[in-house]
Amino acid sequence: MLVDSHCHIDTARFNADREAVITAAFEEGVTRMVDPGCDLASSEHALRLAKAHPGMVFAGVGTHPHDATTHSEAVGARYREMAREPEVVAIGEFGLDYFRMLSPRDVQRAVFVAHLELARECALPCIIHVRDSHDDVIELLRAHGQGLRGVFHCFSGNVAQAEECLAFEGFMLSFAGPLTRQGNALPDVARMAPLERVLVETDSPYLVPQPLRAKRNEPLFVKYVAEKLAEIRGMTLEEIARVTTANAVRLFGLGESAR
Ligand SMILES: [Zn+2]
Repeated sequence: MLVDSHCHIDTARFNADREAVITAAFEEGVTRMVDPGCDLASSEHALRLAKAHPGMVFAGVGTHPHDATTHSEAVGARYREMAREPEVVAIGEFGLDYFRMLSPRDVQRAVFVAHLELARECALPCIIHVRDSHDDVIELLRAHGQGLRGVFHCFSGNVAQAEECLAFEGFMLSFAGPLTRQGNALPDVARMAPLERVLVETDSPYLVPQPLRAKRNEPLFVKYVAEKLAEIRGMTLEEIARVTTANAVRLFGLGESAR
């Protein structure tokens, strides 16, 4: 059994077959998934999906750095209310994205800090998006994130950056489709990361794992990421599934699998 610790099944690309996608994952052993919102509307949608699939789908509430200009105190207050629902297991996804830079840097930084405060108030783990922004994320976490828990989702850095991330004791690294691709430092990171601090995810509908040729990623495909991680660590898929599932259950406080 696997947990897809990060998938956006609320997005429109699943409108035609969302239920079938969730069922297919469940039947193949991906029994639980976390859907982090990217703005207020998608956070609300993620929560509706979680309520409709108890024990299978769990929600995060947060504003993605691409959408940072849509964040406000009112939106934060709404997240705070939603976070009281048992189906909401995280604040996120939020973070800093200096690659696409769809929101100004200072807005992204302010919204990032607002989410750290929300996570602290709500006693929930953080789901953090980092793209070309490692140094700023580390700086802001050192200043405002002491004692918080969470995950660096779709980790894409090198070993030195991973070590800086892992210095935050409550945080895990999550691997996605890029682990299955050539030409990055992720196998080295996957070898050095403590087993009790790694998660697997798809980031569906993005980042289709290799060697799949699918146009759209989906939670079922998290097994390809887990297989790659098992190969790198010299473990069986079953062992990797057991440990990453236990990590996700511990971090997000997931209930029993419905299966
Ligand atoms: Zn995401």
